[in-house]
Amino acid sequence: MIQVCGYAAQNAKSPLTYFSFERREPREYDVIVDIHYCGICHSDIHQVNDEWGGSTFPMVPGHEITGIVSKVGAKVTRYKLGDRVAVGNFVDSCRKCGPCQKGLEQYCEEGATWTYNSVEKADGKETIPTQGGYSNKIVVDENYVLSIPDNLPLDSSAPLLCAGITLYSPLMHWKAGPGKKVAIIGLGGLGHIGVKFAHTLGAEVTVLSHSLKKQEEAKKLGADNFYATSERDTFKKLARYFDVIINTVSVELDLDRYMKLLALDGTMVIVGLPEKKFQVGAFPLANTRRSLAGSVIGGLKETQEMLDFCSENNIACDIELIPVQKVNEAYRRVLNSDVRYRFVIDVMNSLKCKD
Ligand code: NAP
Ligand code: ZN
Ligand code: ZN
Repeated sequence: MIQVCGYAAQNAKSPLTYFSFERREPREYDVIVDIHYCGICHSDIHQVNDEWGGSTFPMVPGHEITGIVSKVGAKVTRYKLGDRVAVGNFVDSCRKCGPCQKGLEQYCEEGATWTYNSVEKADGKETIPTQGGYSNKIVVDENYVLSIPDNLPLDSSAPLLCAGITLYSPLMHWKAGPGKKVAIIGLGGLGHIGVKFAHTLGAEVTVLSHSLKKQEEAKKLGADNFYATSERDTFKKLARYFDVIINTVSVELDLDRYMKLLALDGTMVIVGLPEKKFQVGAFPLANTRRSLAGSVIGGLKETQEMLDFCSENNIACDIELIPVQKVNEAYRRVLNSDVRYRFVIDVMNSLKCKD
């Protein structure tokens, strides 16, 4: 085992504090990544607070990881020492089922091994808990590591590994592009990169935000239109307007109101994962042959494609870089929608292991 350190929640809802722990000794196909940066995703907060059920503790969150390869196992061919790499939401999967064979490892039928709040497997048997990127090093099979193109900065690319791919995948699947009217509900970590992608893909992009506070910034990110959902007229003006709506909001919304904003054959894609259930009426769905869909992150192949797309189009996230000691304050600000637009932990410069 190798000794590492990070920040962990010891129990549900408890603040994150310094934590020493062990990771597996690298196997022949493993690389060790020295973590430089890790984004703070709202999913980290849901899981620390055990809002989805089944959280295990101690928990070191973090699945938006970038860093440098510092060691490679004997049989590693994809990476060498010094490579700029990334690790996202999962670190393994069964590799045999239909979804895995299609490069859709996030939908692995046996369940992907998530980067944290999950259990590592060796020879099919469960071993030690996985721990995430608010830590100094991670050991990952080379096949589950992504490559960061040279022109992308390691800090502002970190959130691409979750926020980025979570928006890129449905935008590609539902063919956002010229002639398509796309709305994004919630201008947070996911929403802001979704606006950049949809704009770059040539779609008409509208932000539906719960207040007017982010209006000017949304335009700079590439939004064509901006509406506050708190304004009375918004839902009337936009009735039957959109081809695709992507809902990134972390709390449950009155979905029926938003379904009515879809045009004939329009699709509402749920990517936000609130604790509570949605209620959906049959009429807003059936009336104009609308679809209600969902999507989770993206597979390895598509995640690399997204990173290359960002490289070609010079896209990265708008971030606030913080030392790891400020993680609890950052959580409070995320919950108040007070981040522009992703916190990224400067792991390399702020986390010092005590032993
Ligand atoms: P975030 O940065 O907190 O953004 C969420 C946005 O939702 C906020 O910026 C805010 O936007 C809006 N919002 C928050 N509270 C609201 C309220 N009470 N009423 C209306 N709108 C509200 O979070 P994130 O990291 O982007 O994640 C968003 C959600 O996606 C979380 O539930 C997360 O777990 C989930 N997620 C899913 C996947 C996936 O694969 N499906 C991947 C990553 C994250 P405005 O200020 O513009 O209204
Ligand atoms: Zn995430
Ligand atoms: Zn599988």
